[in-house]
Amino acid sequence: MQPLYIQNSLTRKKELFKPLNPPYVGMYVCGPTVYSNVHLGNVRSFLTFDIVYRYLSFLGYRVRYVRNITDVGHLIGDSEDGEDKIGKKARLENLEPMEIVQKYTNDFHDVTQVFNMKSPSIEPTATGHIVEQIEMIKAILDRGYGYESNGSVYFHVRKYSEDYPYGELSGRKIDDLLSNTRTLDGQDEKRDPLDFALWKKADSTHLMKWPSPWSEGFPGWHLECSVMSTKYLGPTFDIHGGGMDLKFPHHECEIAQNIGANGVERPVKYWMHGNMLTVNGRKMAKSEGNGFTPEELITGNHPLLERGYSAMTVRFFMLQGHYASTLDFSNEALQAAEKGLDRMMSALEKLDSLPANAESDQADIDIAGIEKRCAEAMGDDFNTPILISVLFEAVKLINNISTGRISISANQKESLIALVHGYTFEVLGLQMEVNATAESHDEEALMNLLVELRGKAKVNQDWDTADTIRKALAEMGITIIDGKDGSSWKRD
Ligand code: ZN
Repeated sequence: MQPLYIQNSLTRKKELFKPLNPPYVGMYVCGPTVYSNVHLGNVRSFLTFDIVYRYLSFLGYRVRYVRNITDVGHLIGDSEDGEDKIGKKARLENLEPMEIVQKYTNDFHDVTQVFNMKSPSIEPTATGHIVEQIEMIKAILDRGYGYESNGSVYFHVRKYSEDYPYGELSGRKIDDLLSNTRTLDGQDEKRDPLDFALWKKADSTHLMKWPSPWSEGFPGWHLECSVMSTKYLGPTFDIHGGGMDLKFPHHECEIAQNIGANGVERPVKYWMHGNMLTVNGRKMAKSEGNGFTPEELITGNHPLLERGYSAMTVRFFMLQGHYASTLDFSNEALQAAEKGLDRMMSALEKLDSLPANAESDQADIDIAGIEKRCAEAMGDDFNTPILISVLFEAVKLINNISTGRISISANQKESLIALVHGYTFEVLGLQMEVNATAESHDEEALMNLLVELRGKAKVNQDWDTADTIRKALAEMGITIIDGKDGSSWKRD
């Protein structure tokens, strides 16, 4: 098997991937908070881990891919005291919180389908794991890394950092963190500003709350991922992924909770983080007015978009950037991606009907060499842009075979099909799209041509030809209308 190297955010090194328990691989990815439409930045992040999942499966690993749904505990402003985002939306729209959750979960699933992302093996929800979250809080309290305060429970970062390193993933130093945070005003329930909530006591207006040994309340946001990853993948597992913005505090807190509760040395072997999207060079954000929803991108219904782009164009465009780099959206870049994808898919359409008329394998055609470079690209930290450039060598080869410039044997044709199908459809997850707009453009051009030819035939008094065209079109349900200014056509 081609070795796979992963850039580990924790060690900041490219490391050879060795699963803890091969051929099984455990992978946890922080999923969406379901209170609004999915943003394109999220799509990129989930696409990154779709590629990781696809490639590991392609290599033959048995991957258990867990991606959660955050349906409680994510507070406005990501603070400790804000209102629950889902609860607020439910209150404003006069709906049950679970109606909000269902609506945006469905929306999220639709989006993942449109972009051809594979479903995870398990998609657990935070509200479905309240009992387990309470159990983990108890374990953290038992080991002395948490404290109760006025019905809420907090993780005691200072105490934890005396026994274990805190801040390794995000490269923060505990002393800097402690001295850089605001001091508490004496009213605060927390002992230190760095401490974060494991359980929050709910006030009477709070819609989503559960009984616990400490109060009627709800879990802190960071806790669910520790709990669900441990439950489904064990206290130590292979890969944990998410967007760059989750490194701190979310993932840093997750590590502290896992170690704090279970005493394991390193809960996650490989941490992976996808980078952000920018638009015309500026960070993509709702507040900048440049955050598209996937739907806006596909319909073109946004002031920054010249027109819409198909889901596969967007997928292809995103894969032309490495997941760890920022990726800039612009109309030009999307249009270039559209052309590239079209070139690739047009070649792929010819694959099955390619002539294979060489008697034996042609020595100057090295399909195994192309395949090796595909594997090397993916083995180098899932380098999809390099993979795509190697696949374009295959595209060139297909075009040359198709025009008869090069001949191949049946055997070589078979390897070429397997190679292209494997890397394009399975690994990159690209799909053939019916380009409806282009087709109707073609159709219109053809129709106009036929009407023009019939007109010429009439001028030349070639009644036979004119009639043949008219009759053939009538059989297809198309009528030619002869007017004063020439002829036109309409569908019946
Ligand atoms: Zn998470």
